[in-house]
Amino acid sequence: MLRDKDRIFTNIYGLQDVSLEAARRRGDWKGTAEFIAKGRSWLVDEVKNSGLRGRGGAGFSTGMKWSFMPKEIGDRPHYLVINADEGEPGTCKDRDILRHEPHKLLEGIVLACAAVGAHACYVYTRGEFFREAEALQTAIDEAAAAGLLGKDACGSGWAVDVHVHMGAGAYICGEESALLESLEGKKGMPRLKPPFPANVGLFGCPTTVNNVESIASVPEILRRGATWFAGLGRPKNTGTKLFCISGHVNAPCTVEEEMGVSLRELIETHCGGVRGGWDNLLAVIPGGSSVPVIPKSVCDSVRMDFDSLQEVKSGLGTAAVIVMDKSTDIVRAITRLARFYMHESCGQCTPCREGTGWMWRMLERMSVGDAALEEIDVLDDVTRQVEGHTICALGDAAAWPIQGLIRHFRPELERRIAAFHESKTRKVA
Ligand code: SF4
Repeated sequence: MLRDKDRIFTNIYGLQDVSLEAARRRGDWKGTAEFIAKGRSWLVDEVKNSGLRGRGGAGFSTGMKWSFMPKEIGDRPHYLVINADEGEPGTCKDRDILRHEPHKLLEGIVLACAAVGAHACYVYTRGEFFREAEALQTAIDEAAAAGLLGKDACGSGWAVDVHVHMGAGAYICGEESALLESLEGKKGMPRLKPPFPANVGLFGCPTTVNNVESIASVPEILRRGATWFAGLGRPKNTGTKLFCISGHVNAPCTVEEEMGVSLRELIETHCGGVRGGWDNLLAVIPGGSSVPVIPKSVCDSVRMDFDSLQEVKSGLGTAAVIVMDKSTDIVRAITRLARFYMHESCGQCTPCREGTGWMWRMLERMSVGDAALEEIDVLDDVTRQVEGHTICALGDAAAWPIQGLIRHFRPELERRIAAFHESKTRKVA
């Protein structure tokens, strides 16, 4: 279990004051100028050495991402964009940072801007995060008035301006290139890659897009050192992470824990256990709705980190843990998610636009058993036609939960189909 002294987010529940003064008392904004004075490569290397992997879902090394930005600033300005579009069902961590720990994010932004050579940062917040955007703007105003942002941020000589931009609520705008399109005032449709944002990003300029939690963790990593962060968690899965646990637990919550904590410990220690006890557990979606569901037998021993969850053919994603007890109709639950992805598809590429509708309609029939047994394999095949054949990862996100359902709950699908046909035969007789 994570020791209190190793926590990065000490006010994540907003129990204390969120003002600049209080944030400073908690240690924020301490030594920022000295870190910037050490130079771009020191900042990049330190974050690389900490092993910090992006907390937005993909789990790509944050330091590595920064290193892709051009070394010299040419005639195109560099930009930092913060993805605060948190729309993954089950996820509620970035919003807690925005409303309760905004100064951690702002300090991280100043450091990240210095690391990637940017003087301007755009924070793209989810449209529904109205109060969160307000809280962030208040923190920006406070920091600017105190000289922590602006022409000479923290007295470092590096200029940093931060702008908040509210989205309009489309899930796809959480995809980094769709987010950039939206920020430019266009429809939020993902771009083909390459070119990658580090080369051609916002307004055609070199851009780094980072998640809120990733950047808010940076100041503490630099203050305590890369080795401290790398010493927590497991190899290649280092540090601490905010987990959001919802569904059939006694006390749903967002909690900071060490990477690699066991799923069972996470649920039993922080959420008061599964409703009706551990043996009443049916399945868990461990990383937000886009990763495959895992059954209780896997939940018994799985660890919560990128690699451990990949080994069991699921993923850590945003670490949004959705717990389902035995009262859950698992087929209906996955069908509902399929509908969500169909609704949120931007429609730009055929496998996703058509496939998400296909998959949802097949699942609608299967949830009442109105299908042929062979159609389970047809459905699985459709998911494979969508997966990996689309412009962005929404296609994969739509396919994976269904693959998880078929992998672990095929007998349940077969049972429903058999029961449906049996009742039909009885009616005819
Ligand atoms: Fe749009 Fe779906 Fe294609 Fe992504 S995969 S670009 S959401 S149609």
